[in-house]
Amino acid sequence: MLATLISVLACSPADEPTPPAAGQSAADRRAGAPGIGDPDFPRDGNGGYDVSHYDLVVDYTPATKRLDGVTTISAAATQELSSFNLDLTGLDVREVAVDDAPATFTRKGDELTVRPARAITGGTPFTVKVTYTGSPKPASDNANLGTYGFIPTPDGAFVASEPNGSKTWFPNNDHPADKATFDFTITVPAGLTALANGEQAGRPTTSGGRTTFRWRERHPMATYLATATLGKFDLRQGSTAAGIPNLAATDPRFKSSLDPLYTLSGQITDYWATVFGPYPFSSTGGVVDDYSAGYALENQTKPLYGGFQPDETIIAHELAHQWFGNSLTIKRWKDLWLNEGFATYAEWLWAEHKGKKTAEATFTELLKRPASDPMWSYPRAAPSPTTCSTSPSTRAAA
Ligand SMILES: [Zn+2]
Repeated sequence: MLATLISVLACSPADEPTPPAAGQSAADRRAGAPGIGDPDFPRDGNGGYDVSHYDLVVDYTPATKRLDGVTTISAAATQELSSFNLDLTGLDVREVAVDDAPATFTRKGDELTVRPARAITGGTPFTVKVTYTGSPKPASDNANLGTYGFIPTPDGAFVASEPNGSKTWFPNNDHPADKATFDFTITVPAGLTALANGEQAGRPTTSGGRTTFRWRERHPMATYLATATLGKFDLRQGSTAAGIPNLAATDPRFKSSLDPLYTLSGQITDYWATVFGPYPFSSTGGVVDDYSAGYALENQTKPLYGGFQPDETIIAHELAHQWFGNSLTIKRWKDLWLNEGFATYAEWLWAEHKGKKTAEATFTELLKRPASDPMWSYPRAAPSPTTCSTSPSTRAAA
């Protein structure tokens, strides 16, 4: 991800945690918390349960921007739960069921509070199924990152959700501290391609002018790395020299990027496996869409490049994140500098591997920058609204 995310983290409005109300009922005391406990994002994620799997069924029509979704979450209660929260922005919830029994629900801001017919016993597994519909609205942070989440495009959607944009298109526990496996069933008008994480589970099927794509990510994944990028795409599929399945997809406007993206993604994935250890997932690749995001995101198994032809430096960065960030994941956003630190170091290692400047020379050169250089202005691991005025200036994408 781009370094400007750090300034997003620095500048996100700090929601006030809800203080416990006096005279709470027993049911209130058994309510799952509305946040997972991240001091910098107090309302992100939720408490009281741990998700193991998301089953996402999404039907999307670009012409009307309408999304119909059914999300089934498999989770385990970590306490007795009279109610619990999911994160969801906008969209119209039609129905919620817990363990197949109808449940009541309320909405407040980005919180969807579910009250099952019977309290869930602590330590037990349960499922929650949410049926919803509407037009997803991406998250916007004009001062920093710009637009993220589910972003409609003329031919489909560009889906890049760091840090907390996955709630713009499906209900979930939206924080990297709760990783889970994913199944995706995405239906779009025939002629379009839907790209999600992991590998295809069977061939796409077309009926009544609509095509359904099934993807499965069987390695645990943070919600911000989930994607359902869809639209017109040219594809190139095969394997890296070391035998890892490789898929490159480019919007027709970026067709000239298809072969370089495929080749470089394969070479870099294989090289990182010799440097960082075995590749942690079951496929690699990349996606170039025509939405001018001005950034790239390391979506698990399918880094997404927003409206530009990625060069080898940025591909090296996003693929290094498959190890640092995606497989090894932070529990609190204040540690994001670790993800970005390793991915930036990986850029230097790739340059050295290609016979350019050594990583040590890059480091030494940067170290010589004067104390007034903006590079030094952001203190690591210290996200706070007060650091906004010293947001780093960075290149467009990294
Ligand atoms: Zn990054």
